[in-house]
Amino acid sequence: MLPLVDSKASIEQDYLDYLDALRASQFKGEIETSYASRLAVATDNSVYQRLPQAVVFPRDVADLQLIGQLTQSHNKVRFSARGGGTGTNGQSLTDGLVVDLSRHMRDILEFNAEERWVRVQAGVIKDQLNDFLRPHGFFFAPDLSTSNRATIGGMINTDASGQGSLVYGKTSDHVLALRSVLADGSLLDTAPMGLDEARELAGQGDVIGQVVAQVLQSCEQKREQILAKFPRLNRFLTGYDLEHVFDADMQHFDLSRIITGSEGSLVFVAEAKLNVTPIARYKTLINVKYDSFESALRHAPAMVAAQATSVETVDSKVLNLAREDIIWHSVKALIEDVPGKDLQGLNMVEYNAEAEQDMQDKITGLVAMLDDCITTGKSGVIGYQLTSDNADIGKIYAMRKKAVGLLGKTKGSKKPIAFAEDTAVPPEKLADFIMEFRALLDAKGLQYGMFGHVDAGVLHVRPALDLIDPLQELLMAEVSDQVVTLVAKYGGLMWGEHGKGYRSEYGPAFFGEELFTELRKIKAAFDPFNRMNPGKICTPYESDEALVKVSDTKRGTYDRQIPLKVREAFEPAMSCNGNGLCFNYDSTSPMCPSSKITKDRRHSPKGRAGLMREWLRLLSKQGVDVAKLDNVGTKQNWFSRIYNTYKQDNKQDFSHQVMEAMDGCLACKACANQCPVNVDVPSFRARFLHMYYGRYARPFKDYLVANVEKMAPLLSKAPRLVNAALVLGEWPLRKWVGYVDAPTLSYPTLAGRLDKEVQAFDLSVLRSLNPEQLSKRVLIVQDPFTSFYEAELIEDLVKLIRKLGLHPVLLPFKPNGKPQHVKGFLAEFAATAQNAAAFFNQLAGLNIPMIGVDPSLVLCYRDEYKKALGSTRGEFKVQLIHEWLETVTLPDLAVQSTRDFALFAHCTEKTALPSAEKQWQQIFARLGVSLTPVSVGCCGMAGTYGHETSHLEHSKGIFELSWQPALAGYKTEQLLATGYSCRSQTARMQGDKPKHPLQALLALLEEK
Ligand SMILES: Cc1cc2nc3c(=O)[nH]c(=O)nc-3n(C[C@H](O)[C@H](O)[C@H](O)COP(=O)(O)OP(=O)(O)OC[C@H]3O[C@@H](n4cnc5c(N)ncnc54)[C@H](O)[C@@H]3O)c2cc1C
Ligand code: SF4
Ligand code: SF4
Repeated sequence: MLPLVDSKASIEQDYLDYLDALRASQFKGEIETSYASRLAVATDNSVYQRLPQAVVFPRDVADLQLIGQLTQSHNKVRFSARGGGTGTNGQSLTDGLVVDLSRHMRDILEFNAEERWVRVQAGVIKDQLNDFLRPHGFFFAPDLSTSNRATIGGMINTDASGQGSLVYGKTSDHVLALRSVLADGSLLDTAPMGLDEARELAGQGDVIGQVVAQVLQSCEQKREQILAKFPRLNRFLTGYDLEHVFDADMQHFDLSRIITGSEGSLVFVAEAKLNVTPIARYKTLINVKYDSFESALRHAPAMVAAQATSVETVDSKVLNLAREDIIWHSVKALIEDVPGKDLQGLNMVEYNAEAEQDMQDKITGLVAMLDDCITTGKSGVIGYQLTSDNADIGKIYAMRKKAVGLLGKTKGSKKPIAFAEDTAVPPEKLADFIMEFRALLDAKGLQYGMFGHVDAGVLHVRPALDLIDPLQELLMAEVSDQVVTLVAKYGGLMWGEHGKGYRSEYGPAFFGEELFTELRKIKAAFDPFNRMNPGKICTPYESDEALVKVSDTKRGTYDRQIPLKVREAFEPAMSCNGNGLCFNYDSTSPMCPSSKITKDRRHSPKGRAGLMREWLRLLSKQGVDVAKLDNVGTKQNWFSRIYNTYKQDNKQDFSHQVMEAMDGCLACKACANQCPVNVDVPSFRARFLHMYYGRYARPFKDYLVANVEKMAPLLSKAPRLVNAALVLGEWPLRKWVGYVDAPTLSYPTLAGRLDKEVQAFDLSVLRSLNPEQLSKRVLIVQDPFTSFYEAELIEDLVKLIRKLGLHPVLLPFKPNGKPQHVKGFLAEFAATAQNAAAFFNQLAGLNIPMIGVDPSLVLCYRDEYKKALGSTRGEFKVQLIHEWLETVTLPDLAVQSTRDFALFAHCTEKTALPSAEKQWQQIFARLGVSLTPVSVGCCGMAGTYGHETSHLEHSKGIFELSWQPALAGYKTEQLLATGYSCRSQTARMQGDKPKHPLQALLALLEEK
């Protein structure tokens, strides 16, 4: 039986006292001290792991000030600010207190189009800001791959930049003013000012005065050394930018330049006034294809010379990984293969222009050059493709932005990791630098993929290492040191884009003792007691505290405590690399509805994977054989489970915290397909539930859900009686069982709607049919929801099949098992799956199409069945309606209609079958009817999730995020939805129920 899992991670007394004081103050935010909350922010996208004491979520500047002010009576407390937590070098990790600004400080405060600025809170996400600015014709220019989850506070503190930085610069180039809070709670407003004003301020004598005085002193006195030391690069430096504190003629002073890139080691940035840039009227992207990555690199300067706005490069490894990912579906037409050539490198060259003619001139020049290269075989150019469609350009960049995540998909235990992934060298030296870098990695037998901003000389490379192996950890440190030396040789920077974090140990050597001392003096002026992100970048002057180091404790240190066979069995949880793509803020993306609605990192795929890993580690430490536990599951007797549930000692069980995170999951499977490394939460969630309920009693509603497929056929014998009972029993069901808005059974029932011929399934009769007769048959696979709760849909399917001149045969209802899987009844699911598979396999040999209506149940045959049954699953194939219709000829049934339908596809279907919407569109087009796929996330129902009282509020909230506004754009008769859940949720929330697309097709054919 699963034992009690004890985390033994107590919180230091100083912090407990401090948090008590914070609770007793006017602090309006949340304070979370659970082990799960702490774990959720113990990692980022780096290889490091550090458990904080607690996490606090301030709501505004005043909250941040309180956090600082209370340190005066609790002087041991240390902080690390946190935004999206997407840092690649552990910047936001701490063993002190995490101050997470991403949950609440998300407001856009003020916008002035005339003066071209916007004022925001630090937790605003970069894409959120650009979505706000777009209708006004502006954008916040510094770009970064993590734009859908990185915050402005994080961007400012890492001085983020990316594609287009040659033209658009870095975040620091766009900061007009900052409102920050110092470690002692003082408010600090910074903006460019005249030198005289700065000197006056410096004489003030208070904290702010001391800060300004120190910065003035360091930057004026050491100006010569600073100019000599700092690289003359577009990616000049991140953090403590001593050079740009002054403008070129030393007349203006801007303290914000010290704060940008300081990685939270100086202040909490609370609000920022940012410069916004007009969106270029004309944009064109040319994808230039090469025979090698080296050719692409060496040719990039020619593109820059040809006035490109930006040049981005990816190598063949990244391209090939993209080909295997869901993302390729959206870009394949834009990066077609060149017949007879091997595409090994790609330059994505963007041009922006205000005037059409200007754009035309630029492109004509480039195209002539490329044509010449192709004809003469110069520069390794093998082809190019051009697009001026903004949506297409966005798709290409989405692929490029996903590149880092895709690299994580590499097979085997060695995974690409970030530690030397953002070197910057002068662009003209980039190709040579990369060749030497590759030689270094090749000599060590390391695998890697490369891509980067070649125009700015920035290279992204993540060598594949397995940090569970201590020797590989040493190798990482060795390579890191060698890269530092190599970068220095080329006059570049180790941290050209992603900041320093645990690489801070290289700071003293990079800056030299003299300038590093100045950094420390500045740190001392801002933060004399080393409270702000201690160990990052530098420590205060005269402090003997240490910097963080590359060799510090990593995630691998913990992961290696989990036995190999357990790691293999829970591979999806182990493989999360923390890149945070699952925090995607876009409400029209299916990615993680529970994360969106809660804004709680525990309720994201990353949070769940992290909790699972720690749970497995703690179990392993307790000597528990997890594999055995996995087999035992729920076979414990009732009495002991009830006893464990109510026993007081068990309240502290860490398993409850894991359970809470798993319970919030909708099992929508968006993560399984949209996460770049396919972290499939529902798969390990089901196994966790299976083991958890080996120790604790299950709620009654779980049995109801898991047995819905057994009960529905019985209940449908007396549908009206049952429906009446459901209405009368609404209150007790909600209150005592925890189930709301239970759907009513179809009346007339399916049997009552269909004639005998359809229902007359007889295997021997089917087997006796000749090929011609067989080719006319279509087998309908029933699912519990459609057959018993939406029988009219099966009735319509029968009519549609007949309308197409074919003979429908209704297969006897065979439970699918999906509800059992969702609730973690894994033994029962395996039996159900085995039974259904045996039945369908008998039919498979007949070569008659088997079709099912509900996407999530049909897709269960393909995924969960494979995982549960392995090779015994057999080869049977159940198609979804659109997959089957694609194979059916509709030659003489073409109708013309002026109707325009809107398709709201099921999120499991969209993410598992990315072509589904397009295929539906094509099917409708064959009939001359327009169908528009609508971008929406999850509807919030997800099987039975939305019917559970405990989830009701979130279910409704998720619906309101994207479905509600999207539905408002259409009339009810236009709405088509492929999921049973989605149709029910829409009916529940809005009264009108959308139809399934097959019903619209039928109506169109009947009209004719
Ligand atoms: C897949 C991937 C691709 C990436 N691509 C790019 C890229 O193209 N360009 C690029 O520049 N970076 C890139 N990064 C790195 C990372 O996304 C950026 O550094 C980003 O700016 C971090 O923002 P965040 O909100 O996640 O900050 P966090 O990671 O939460 O924090 C980063 C640092 O900022 C500090 N901080 C955060 N908020 C505040 C605040 N309000 N006040 C004070 N300090 C604060 C933290 O203490 C920490 O030191 C990439 C990362 C990943 C995982
Ligand atoms: S679950 Fe996937 S998308 Fe989320 S952080 Fe982990 S690897 Fe990235
Ligand atoms: S299944 Fe859906 S709700 Fe659950 S973690 Fe994955 S994306 Fe989030």
